Amino acid sequence: MNITETQVGTPDYWITSLDGVKKYLEQNVKKGKVFTAGYSAGGREILAYAYGEKEDLPQTVSLSSAWAARKPELYTRAPERKKLSLFIYGAIHGAEIEGTAGLMNMINLLEHGLDLRGRKNESLLKLAEDYRIVIVPISQPDGRARFRRNSLVGQSLDVFQYYAHGVWKDGSPCKYPYHKEVMPLPVKDFEQLGAYFNDNGVNCQHDDFFGNIQPETQTLIRLVHEERPDCILSCHSCEADPGMSTPAASLQEEGLLMEQQIAISVMSRQMRENLRPYHRVNLRQAKAFILQDILYMASGALPLLYEFPHGCENIPFTHEEIIDLGLTLFEEIMSYGKETRFRNRF
Ligand SMILES: [Zn+2]
Repeated sequence: MNITETQVGTPDYWITSLDGVKKYLEQNVKKGKVFTAGYSAGGREILAYAYGEKEDLPQTVSLSSAWAARKPELYTRAPERKKLSLFIYGAIHGAEIEGTAGLMNMINLLEHGLDLRGRKNESLLKLAEDYRIVIVPISQPDGRARFRRNSLVGQSLDVFQYYAHGVWKDGSPCKYPYHKEVMPLPVKDFEQLGAYFNDNGVNCQHDDFFGNIQPETQTLIRLVHEERPDCILSCHSCEADPGMSTPAASLQEEGLLMEQQIAISVMSRQMRENLRPYHRVNLRQAKAFILQDILYMASGALPLLYEFPHGCENIPFTHEEIIDLGLTLFEEIMSYGKETRFRNRF
């Protein structure tokens, strides 16, 4: 398949490569902690950043039994905790690095009081005082390595298809959602395996959660089970307008309502700031369970999924605007959590 790529440079505040993220975290983090959370199928390091003290309260019950006892707080220990806890991960689909760019700007804010553009953000920093925040900037590094670019801003949908979903050896595109019909995909049959998939050809969003689970998925489950956060945000991207995506299938009425309230806050804020979000809140729950459901069951955290725009030529966004989408998203979620403490989400 021949694709024509437009050469677009990326600004210094746009850190999304595996090397760039690692170098930044090694050289710039003083207040938080950086650690290797796990390794991908291809043996690549999965790095995590943690800000704020972890409150290690004893685990005396499983989430399932606490929930069944109608006392989920026995598991979450929310009433005893001083701080709220937020867990955010990016790039489980390796070309979806717009959230990573926003997250690296938030880390710089937390570490140095300015984002990577040199701008202050007092409101976000004030909210962060009430939080422990754990960030995995690139949760599926195999796909990220195969996506040999730093951005899709200004690119055609052919370029998006080539890197995100991939191209078979016969030159035909590997199309969404048909690539979900076989898993793992036959990696050797690809000219370019899409960044959606790890080196085993698995889309972790639909992993074999109770069987041959992938190391990236296992890493996220272990992290959220240890953290027991109040809220989990998964940062995805697509070729359409930005917005909060379909609520997880397993959310109950209370959690669903919370997600809708957050989606409205985020959408309203981004409309006010002329960031062109998708103008409707998606009220229909997913028909199939996905990684968000598993992380919800593993931790009790409210599971959110946001779709950034890639900024391809069909739905243009600048790097600057994509960073603003991220920072407004993180701030609105934290603000909602401060008001409600994400209770009661069960
Ligand atoms: Zn995605």
